[in-house]
Amino acid sequence: MEFEYIFEEVRITERNAPRFIINGKEVDIWDGEYRNYHSRSVSDYVRENLLKMERDGIDPFQEIVGKELEKDMVKTALMSGSNILFKGKKGYGKTTFSKSIAKLLPDRILAIKGCRIHDDPTRPVCFSCKKKLLEQDEVELTFVPKKWIRIAGDPMMTTRQLIGGISLQKIREGYDLDHPEVFTPGRVLKAHRGIAYFDELGSIPSSLQTLLHELLEERQITTPEGDIIPMKIDTLVIASTNPANYRGVSDIKEPLLDRMEQIDIGPPDTLEEEIEIGLRNMAIKADVIPEWHLKILAGAVRCMRSKNCRYAGRIEVEPSCRATIKVFDHVAASALRNGREAVMLADYGKDYSNVKLAFKSRFEVDYEEELSKDLVIHEIVNDSIDTVSGEVYSAIPRSIFGGMMEELSDMGEIDVYSENGLKECKNLWAFVSSMCRRRREVYSALEITLEAIARCTGLVERTSDGVYVYTAYDR
Ligand SMILES: [Zn+2]
Repeated sequence: MEFEYIFEEVRITERNAPRFIINGKEVDIWDGEYRNYHSRSVSDYVRENLLKMERDGIDPFQEIVGKELEKDMVKTALMSGSNILFKGKKGYGKTTFSKSIAKLLPDRILAIKGCRIHDDPTRPVCFSCKKKLLEQDEVELTFVPKKWIRIAGDPMMTTRQLIGGISLQKIREGYDLDHPEVFTPGRVLKAHRGIAYFDELGSIPSSLQTLLHELLEERQITTPEGDIIPMKIDTLVIASTNPANYRGVSDIKEPLLDRMEQIDIGPPDTLEEEIEIGLRNMAIKADVIPEWHLKILAGAVRCMRSKNCRYAGRIEVEPSCRATIKVFDHVAASALRNGREAVMLADYGKDYSNVKLAFKSRFEVDYEEELSKDLVIHEIVNDSIDTVSGEVYSAIPRSIFGGMMEELSDMGEIDVYSENGLKECKNLWAFVSSMCRRRREVYSALEITLEAIARCTGLVERTSDGVYVYTAYDR
């Protein structure tokens, strides 16, 4: 008898509904605010909320820095009710993007209490809910928070983990529909009425990809015993894949690919966006990195991705935004540990060890070249300091440059950690002050100014940490 429920499509309306109970109280789910939390599909909600946000001028993807074109494509795909495949290297925000899509779902939904896939009270999917709704006078409901289920692509993943266990055989043997041996939902069924985020979809065994396709397209599952069971689950699939896994041929099976819209997610388009992403995601919430150091460090990361990098041909795996985030963290950590209010060159560490700490595990070089990563980092950071020094140097007004050099000559030696005699250096002081967003950045600004003069003219020289000596007496 119970077999009927499995294959029957059950629709509950005000006319055939049982009494619905929430927290011991009977409610009319077609009345008042309850109406908003059932009978609508994931894509209904996504469309409604997207349109509402666009009307109100709200960007649903505020977490994503830049990427306007990609955001637009995501919106179009979602409006069209499509699943999305984000393709891109690690660390460029595929997961952040997928999470931000969850904002388009309502904060909570109404579900049948006890249902392991949180069935909608008007369109049940699992057989046990179908039976309850048709046979019982009273059915208890509950609110569940929005669902964003991450499914990590694992080559060892089993059918049971992905889809779950469903056995008609057990029902034939007389097991109750609620029995765990009859039905245990896997990850993708748990994403019913929510978002299923497949992190590295291509890593899921291809036999499971076939099952997944069957579930999404045919809305049914073939059990290991060969029974075909309808499973009209409603889920928005967002998947990610790393082009490094492609090796010429896609690891994602053709029929599954055909069910998704591919959106490429690359590195940030500009240095400013790179810096913004770094700052937003830092673990250390202290605003201690002056702009010049942000530019040097983010610039070094971007150089390693660029075709113009002197090591371009030898870098096989480029560093992602995580390198930027972590290098910001490490120099900030060093400044805090040393009691500095703003990052100085010393915070890069001896031989840039703090920068290496952030970069080394995040890029790969060609082994055959026997090129040490330490050397690559050292050279690239040095190049980046050169670039920013050039910018600082060219920002020095020509009208005060002569005066500045006279002041440096009079001082002979300047310790950037001390203000001794600096106030008398009116030209130097005026320029250094103009660079700072905050008073506490002056030592750092003084240091980068002297470093710029050293690198661009050779008239001063850095002799030890923070000490610059005027070297042009004999000229
Ligand atoms: Zn159910």
